Amino acid sequence: MTEIRPDAVADPAQPHALRRLTEIALDALAEGAAARGGPLPAGGPEQVAERTRALCSPVLPEEGLGAEDALYGVARAAAEGAADPSDPHCVAHLHCPPLAVAAAADLVASALNPSMDSWDQAPAAAVIEEDVTAALARLVYAGRPGPDAVVTSGGTESNLVALLLARERARATGARPLQVFVGANAHHSVRRAAWMLGLPTPVLVDCPGGRMSPAALDRALAESGGGPALVVATAGTTDEGLIDPLPELADVARTFGAELHVDAAYGGPLLFSERLAPRLAGIEHAVSVTYDLHKLGWQPVAAGVLAVADASLLEPLSLTADYLNADDDTEAGLPDLLGRSIRTSRRPDVLKIAATLRALGRRGLARTVEHCVATAADFAGAVDAHPALRRRSGEVGISTVLFRPVAADTLGGEAGDELVAAVRRELLAEGQAVLGRALVPDDDGTTRLWLKVTLLHPQTTADGLDTLLKLVAERARSR
Ligand SMILES: *Cc1c(COP(=O)(O)O)cnc(C)c1O
Repeated sequence: MTEIRPDAVADPAQPHALRRLTEIALDALAEGAAARGGPLPAGGPEQVAERTRALCSPVLPEEGLGAEDALYGVARAAAEGAADPSDPHCVAHLHCPPLAVAAAADLVASALNPSMDSWDQAPAAAVIEEDVTAALARLVYAGRPGPDAVVTSGGTESNLVALLLARERARATGARPLQVFVGANAHHSVRRAAWMLGLPTPVLVDCPGGRMSPAALDRALAESGGGPALVVATAGTTDEGLIDPLPELADVARTFGAELHVDAAYGGPLLFSERLAPRLAGIEHAVSVTYDLHKLGWQPVAAGVLAVADASLLEPLSLTADYLNADDDTEAGLPDLLGRSIRTSRRPDVLKIAATLRALGRRGLARTVEHCVATAADFAGAVDAHPALRRRSGEVGISTVLFRPVAADTLGGEAGDELVAAVRRELLAEGQAVLGRALVPDDDGTTRLWLKVTLLHPQTTADGLDTLLKLVAERARSR
């Protein structure tokens, strides 16, 4: 085998280099996963750092190692030391196993490297993006004449752009700056977006039981004394997967002339399912909707969407840079892409989304979302049936289940929470399970620490998760 020159380009007309290197990457993935032997590497941060550096140092050698050795080392280290969302015991975060079709499409994106800031860098990718974003917008705003959507790097950017667009609308109406009203259950990115945009500190609205209270929103808006307002509701909270009462919140917002933005980063893909979409009823009243496809959508990061009720709402993003979208080029018919993002150079994340939508179809996506939701319900049932574990009472969030060992309740107070934290860290250190944590009020109103399981794997079943419950119960008992 001739060595691949390290400076060989990923030229589709010269596929040898990429094909050979892809094989090496796939071998390293398999060998790294086998060496790891679980959802994450055993031994904790120090051992992982030592092993990783053994495979990848020095990072900038005086003379290069050549493409094959360098790639193998990095890929092997990354795989061996990964927290692998494809493992059924890796369930802490909204961190999904990516579909093979999406990962392969991402290779195409990397090899061709279209940049989505001008038509002459991405002629076909621009068409694909136009059609996919139109379909993603229609998913939210089925009945509207002209909805639109843009591709973002995720919920954080989608929320930032949503607040930016709202700020500009408020600015156009005059005197007062936009006031954001956000649930105490909202993702931190909403408050951070307000901070980045120089907006007044958002008003926090009460969320008894984890959902935004329409009565509390009513009070907050009444006290604010008018002025342009944006209510940010959540469809799928990060801690519990709960959905705010969107129809009621939309009503309250309308009464006060406030706009509604829904952060459905987690819950948005329920819209693919005819059976589950009704849980998001009311979302169509939002002026804009955030949703991610790198959570319930099985895309490699990044795959975010911001949908808006009407294409004209994106107008504030438009700008002209002579080197990217000169007026005469646009007048001559070259599509203007620059106004579809706050970024300039931009990866064609839409390619993997397009491949996935076509591969699964709307029904396939619906079935996959439904599978995750059903697995969470079954898993909650298994927790309920387990004598040594107690589930956070109430409805199961989209695909999130909170629970804690009964032993933690017996200890009570801080000692109980410490037991929960210790069980989680022990399983992490052993490389046996990646569980999340959430500080959430219990039935008695006391905030307690819970173990969190977020089920996003298209193939995991509750039966397959039995060993996870056994592990948690065992660790709690042995302490
Ligand atoms: C994950 C999440 C975000 C942030 O999205 P990123 O894709 O991580 O930037 C925002 N809001 C909610 C509700 C989320 O779950």
